[in-house]
Amino acid sequence: MKVYSDIEGMGFSAMRMLMLNEAAEHELPVLQEEANQLRIQSDYGVFGIARRDRNGFRLEVEADGVSNLHVLRDSLVAHISHVQPDVAAQIAWSDTVQSGLRPPNFQFAEIKTTTRLCASFQRVTLTLSKPDGFGDHVIHFRFVLPRLDDSAPEWPTLASNGSTRWPAGAKALHRPVYTARAHRGDEIDVDVFVHAGGRTSEWAVAAAPGTSVALVGPGGGGILDACRVVLAGDETAYPAVSRIIDGLPEGAQGRVILLNHSGQRDYPIPCHDGLTVDWVEPPDFVSTVSAAASDCADGYLWIAAEAGHINALRTSDQILRHPKSQRYVSAYWKRK
Ligand SMILES: Cc1cc2nc3c(=O)[nH]c(=O)nc-3n(C[C@H](O)[C@H](O)[C@H](O)COP(=O)(O)OP(=O)(O)OC[C@H]3O[C@@H](n4cnc5c(N)ncnc54)[C@H](O)[C@@H]3O)c2cc1C
Repeated sequence: MKVYSDIEGMGFSAMRMLMLNEAAEHELPVLQEEANQLRIQSDYGVFGIARRDRNGFRLEVEADGVSNLHVLRDSLVAHISHVQPDVAAQIAWSDTVQSGLRPPNFQFAEIKTTTRLCASFQRVTLTLSKPDGFGDHVIHFRFVLPRLDDSAPEWPTLASNGSTRWPAGAKALHRPVYTARAHRGDEIDVDVFVHAGGRTSEWAVAAAPGTSVALVGPGGGGILDACRVVLAGDETAYPAVSRIIDGLPEGAQGRVILLNHSGQRDYPIPCHDGLTVDWVEPPDFVSTVSAAASDCADGYLWIAAEAGHINALRTSDQILRHPKSQRYVSAYWKRK
């Protein structure tokens, strides 16, 4: 599907700069970069601009399916809104967005079961009302949680400029990212790390089977197609690491490094003949992962943990030696 919007009041060069910064920050491939044309690839599809006149450009978005198309244009409108809110408010698309509807990537899922998987994890099994899109290539989504004491929550709606209008103030919704640890037809298992002050874990422990929960997605990355790997992460990454291990080819080799804050090492990490698994304490995580990266020069590095550890790893020479296409280094949460 392809849609466009002719934008007035913002120059081609300003938008070009915005998009190139976005591509650099998220390491997105630039497919075409010419004087009057720019096209960039993202996980959701292709977006770009074409010069029209001194004070305008055509914004173009192409994606498979309405959900990916929505995510792309929502994010483009948000970027424009950040620098020129008046321009963003006026955006009209070639397919005319019906304002007031629920965003296409929003759904309610039914809670099938919620059980204590091990000491620090609650497993919630959900039946999705829109399972399309979930698969090995996209394994993450966001829960959309109202306050636990809000008996009449408000849900997001589409604005006519294609963006998602989220309720604010007391009706604001909490939207943490989670991983589909397993996916079977219209069902997913979600393993929630139970930590102090966690709004999601509080919800997951109390959730009643047969009731529903809202979510948006799926989005983000998927499993790996690699034969040599270093997989490293803290508790929040155990579900993704496990799903990646499930998908590795039989002959794959490498190391799994699991940072453990809680002292509990009972999360069920799948066995794989080619992988060695090490549990490490917080002070040893960065040095252990950096050393493993050095020993795996031709392999893929997949690392996800708290922002402090990730910032240290992002500047580590041993990590930077790996080409960008051979590493994923992501902050999964931030200590506040
Ligand atoms: C791509 C991706 C996939 C993820 N998948 C999973 C998953 O499958 N399972 C999972 O459990 N998490 C996962 N996370 C991490 C999760 O989104 C965060 O931990 C999130 O902050 C949890 O929200 P919350 O409602 O529990 O706490 P928040 O309301 O966000 O935060 C409340 C307080 O808890 C603290 N906090 C948040 N996370 C932790 C933690 N892990 N340990 C200690 N304190 C914490 C915060 O600093 C804050 O002080 C994923 C994150 C990303 C980006």
